[in-house]
Amino acid sequence: MAKDKKEMISDLIGYLEYLKESGISFLPSLKKRKVQALEEIWRELIDCQRCKLHRSRSRIVFGEGNEDAKLMLIGEGPGYDEDLQGRPFVGKAGQLLTRILQSVQIERKEVYITNIVKCRPPGNRTPEPEEIKSCFPFLLKQIQIIQPRVICALGTVSAQTLLQTDTKITSLRGKSFDFSGIKVFPTYHPAFLLRNPDKKREVWEDIQKVAKALREGGE
Ligand code: URA
Repeated sequence: MAKDKKEMISDLIGYLEYLKESGISFLPSLKKRKVQALEEIWRELIDCQRCKLHRSRSRIVFGEGNEDAKLMLIGEGPGYDEDLQGRPFVGKAGQLLTRILQSVQIERKEVYITNIVKCRPPGNRTPEPEEIKSCFPFLLKQIQIIQPRVICALGTVSAQTLLQTDTKITSLRGKSFDFSGIKVFPTYHPAFLLRNPDKKREVWEDIQKVAKALREGGE
């Protein structure tokens, strides 16, 4: 072993001994630290009044799933069912999303799911730029903590916000983009798919690409 590696290990042992002598006998696992970091952001949001969506929401829909997920799915914003339950993608669109994932052998419990805005826009309207702007930093923190290899951006708002573009989802989908070293695959939103079942094939092709990127280690 190279001398500098030996030195690093000996330094690390020394540091751990120092922590032990100071009464710190164990370090929380990375997963535990991720859970704690996400809880901290959630606490910052719990009474959030940064935009007008707080007036009509029942509850914040923070996001849920595996903190160590390799795949993160990002939708637009909570709908009626999500607002009632405080969980993302639990309505009809969510059930379709679960089936889309299962079609490539991905279980919901493996992934992390959240939205661009954490409060339901009234009547499920599109979130306004100001609402997106005030919520986006919290999504960035979630991404930083989870560090997925791949993000699937569900629908126009998600794809355009993440990629900072006005390009239409019809041109974005089917391709992959870089987001700070994370591969982003835009596809149609499952709610759009419910209204336009003829687009199933495109979404199926997109999710195959997502699964392939995950298998290949994000390449
Ligand atoms: N649509 C979204 O964009 N997100 C949800 O959580 C549910 C429906």
